[in-house]
Amino acid sequence: METYGCQMNVSDGELMAGILAAEGYELVGRPEDADVVLVNTCAIREHAEQRVLGRVAQLNGLKTGRPGLVLGVTGCMAQRMGETLLRDAPYVDLVMGPDSYRSLPESLERLGAQAGDRGTDGDSRRARRARGDRRGQLTVLDLHPAENYAGLEQRRADGPTAWVPIQRGCDHRCTFCIVPYVRGPEKNRAAGEILSEVEGLAGRGVSEVTLLGQTVNSYHWEGVSFASLLRSVARVPGIRRVRFTSPHPSDVTPELVEAMAEEPAVCEHLHLPAQSGNDRTLRRMLRRYTVDDFMGKVEMVREAIPGVALSTDIIVAFPGESDAEFRDTLELMRAVRFDEAYTYKYSRRDGTPAARLPSTDFVPAAEAQARLEELIEVARGIQAEINQSEVGRSEEVLIERPGRREGQVVGKTRRNKVVAFDGCASRVGEYALVGLERTTGATFAGTETSSAATAVRA
Ligand code: SF4
Repeated sequence: METYGCQMNVSDGELMAGILAAEGYELVGRPEDADVVLVNTCAIREHAEQRVLGRVAQLNGLKTGRPGLVLGVTGCMAQRMGETLLRDAPYVDLVMGPDSYRSLPESLERLGAQAGDRGTDGDSRRARRARGDRRGQLTVLDLHPAENYAGLEQRRADGPTAWVPIQRGCDHRCTFCIVPYVRGPEKNRAAGEILSEVEGLAGRGVSEVTLLGQTVNSYHWEGVSFASLLRSVARVPGIRRVRFTSPHPSDVTPELVEAMAEEPAVCEHLHLPAQSGNDRTLRRMLRRYTVDDFMGKVEMVREAIPGVALSTDIIVAFPGESDAEFRDTLELMRAVRFDEAYTYKYSRRDGTPAARLPSTDFVPAAEAQARLEELIEVARGIQAEINQSEVGRSEEVLIERPGRREGQVVGKTRRNKVVAFDGCASRVGEYALVGLERTTGATFAGTETSSAATAVRA
């Protein structure tokens, strides 16, 4: 299984692995060793889709001499392209959208049953397809408004951190975004089920969980708000760190900020997607907040959680964005001073409202690129200044993985900063107090000052 895109997709990959493991499938390390290859895709940007199409064509090479190999494309791009994908990549056997994973074993079985029927010869297969004979190919694209994958277990890689999906789909309709069309409306998971899952993870040695949802803080389940779910998760014995992503600014409420400030396990980091710093653009993006609203949320969070790290997403060159409006976004960046910014050029997605705007509104590619570069420069400059000011601090780091060089480990602080320091790979999963000594601008190098095995908050 190869997964592209956001954390939600990574989590869906774990879900599919769990569903298939329950049916006796095993994950293998290389596609060459697999009987089924699934490419789990993202549709957010055109560029990502092109990359996946190239990769799928490459994987088709594995079919030579192996007629039984099933090549499937799952995820948002599969849902968006549907039958078109089979036309563009006729060697794909299975196209499955994000609401249909429950039926994955059954679909593979159907394809397996037909495997002998698909023929070993590419030309004869092409000939059959030219006749419109789609035997051996399957598209499963139904959107199920209630599918929250209740009762299914994910199969996660071992490690001290875990993604926990609490919500799927989205009820917003931001005009640039394809998500509501490929993932359907918001579907929340039962609070009790989420808590049992987190307890199970803690029992297996996971000490940091990240709650996942498209607008994670709009979560609600039979009277349980996101803030109260967050408090409950933060109190699960063995859980030392809780994060969540991605919240919608409109649902950052005083109740949520209070929970973040009061629960020791909730990390002092908030990813708050701004998208633009201009009111007219925000309105045309249908983001449902103004710059003032956004700044109000930032102020509320910073007041309640001193030193909180903030990250954001920004899109430049949304159709119709003028240069002056883009400059408002730079202004917002300078006013907020985000610790980290994920920056993108607008990518036209057919089926979204923005794609239907007059072609004269579309910002020329060179201009869009220039805006992106300017934004990145400002964002990186701010990030480097903030991180430079943190050199000398001692921070609690959860060791997540071995570093690039032997004898080095890499982990994250509670404020989501990446730190590399000398340590043995066997210590993955442990906490350490690390003095931050240098920064590249984006990440830190440090030296361990002491083990933080019993510290709750650095
Ligand atoms: S809130 Fe907007 S940007 Fe986020 S997933 Fe929903 S529609 Fe897309």
